[in-house]
Amino acid sequence: MPVYDYRAKNPEAACAYCRDRFEAVRSLTQEPLRTCPYCGAEVVKLISAPAIGRSKSKLDDRAKAAGFHKLKRVDQGAFEKLY
Ligand SMILES: [Zn+2]
Repeated sequence: MPVYDYRAKNPEAACAYCRDRFEAVRSLTQEPLRTCPYCGAEVVKLISAPAIGRSKSKLDDRAKAAGFHKLKRVDQGAFEKLY
C-alpha cells in the first residue's frame, strides 16, 4: 500500500506527531487523510520527491533493464561480471 507524507496545515495548532511530518499508509480506496489521527488538526499531503535516481540500486536496475552489463574490476585486466 502506498505511503504518503502528511504535515499539519497549521503547525501552531498541531501536536508533536503531526507538527513536522508523518507518514500514513493509505490504501487506494481510502480517502486521503484530512485530519491528524491523534489531535484532529487539519493536515495536508506532501508531494514526495520521486524515488528514481535517488539510490544506487535503482540506477543499477535501470541499467540492467536497458540491457547494460555491469563489470566490476577485480584485478589488473580482470573483470567480474555482476550481471
Ligand atoms: Zn496531530
